Amino acid sequence: TNRFDGKVALVTGGSRGIGAAIARRLAAEGADVVLTYGGSQAKAEAVAEEIRGMGRKAEAVHCDAAQRGTTAAVIADVANRYGRLDVLVNNAGVYPLTSLAKCSDEVWDNMLAINLTAVFEGLRAAYQVMGAGGSIVTIGSVAGDAAQVAGVGVYSSSKAGVELITRAAGREFGRKGIRANVVQPGPIDTDMNPADGQTADLQKMMVPLGRYGEADEVAAAVAFLASDEASYINGTTLKVCGGMTA
Ligand code: NDP
Repeated sequence: TNRFDGKVALVTGGSRGIGAAIARRLAAEGADVVLTYGGSQAKAEAVAEEIRGMGRKAEAVHCDAAQRGTTAAVIADVANRYGRLDVLVNNAGVYPLTSLAKCSDEVWDNMLAINLTAVFEGLRAAYQVMGAGGSIVTIGSVAGDAAQVAGVGVYSSSKAGVELITRAAGREFGRKGIRANVVQPGPIDTDMNPADGQTADLQKMMVPLGRYGEADEVAAAVAFLASDEASYINGTTLKVCGGMTA
C-alpha cells in the first residue's frame, strides 16, 4: 500500500532503532522523509541513503533534542523547504535507568529536555505548519502508565508527560483537522533495550507473548496512526506491548 504518497514526514531520532524503522516504513509507503539524529550521523545518513534507494526524497538532519529550540527550528525549516509537513513522529528518547533517590540533576534535566521538552516544542511547532489531515504520533512507553520495576520511575515520569501532552494536542489541534496520538511500546529489541540484555528474561516474563517486540512492529502501528486510515482516531493511545499491560 502507498498510504503516504505525496506526503512529507519528519521522524526525530531516526538514526537507529524504532525511529529508523518508522522512517523506512513511511518511505516504503510513499513518504518523503526527513530524519533527525543527535550523535549517530553515519547511521542516520545510511538510513536516508537507503530511503533514497526506494525512490523517495530523504535527508538526515542533525538536531540535538536536548538543546532548546532545535526541534522547532527543524520543523519550521522542513515545512518551509518542502512546502508542507504531513506527519511528525516524536521518537527521539533516552532511557536513564536510575533510582529516584540517586538520580542527579544532570541526568534529570537531560532526560526531561529530550523526552518531554522537545516533544512539547515539536507539537507547538507542528501546529504552526501542519494543515488539515496532518498527523502527529508520539512514542511514549508502557512505562508511562506504571513504574513496573525499581529504576524506571524517572523515565516513567517523562513518558507519562509525553502521553498527556500529546493527547492534549489531539484535543486542541483537532479543530484544525490535525490528529495527535501516542504509541506506547513494551520491550522492543533495540540498542536501548537489547533482547539479550541483563533484564531481558524478566521483561519477557512480563509479556504474555513471551518475547521482545521488533522495531518494525512499532513502525506498523505508527504508520497506521499517521495514515488517513486512522482519520477518526485522535487524542488516544495505542499500546504495542505484546499484552504486557493486559
Ligand atoms: P535507541 O536508543 O535505539 O535509539 C534512540 C534514538 O533517539 C536514536 O535515533 C538517537 O539518535 C535518538 N536520540 C537520543 N538522544 C537524542 C538527542 N539528544 N537528540 C536527537 N536524537 C536523540 O532507542 P529506541 O529506538 O529503542 O527508542 C525510541 C523511542 O522508543 C524512545 O522514545 C524510547 O523511549 C521509546 N521506547 C523504547 C522501548 C524499547 O524497549 N526499546 C520501549 C518503550 C519506548 P542518535 O543516536 O543519533 O543520538
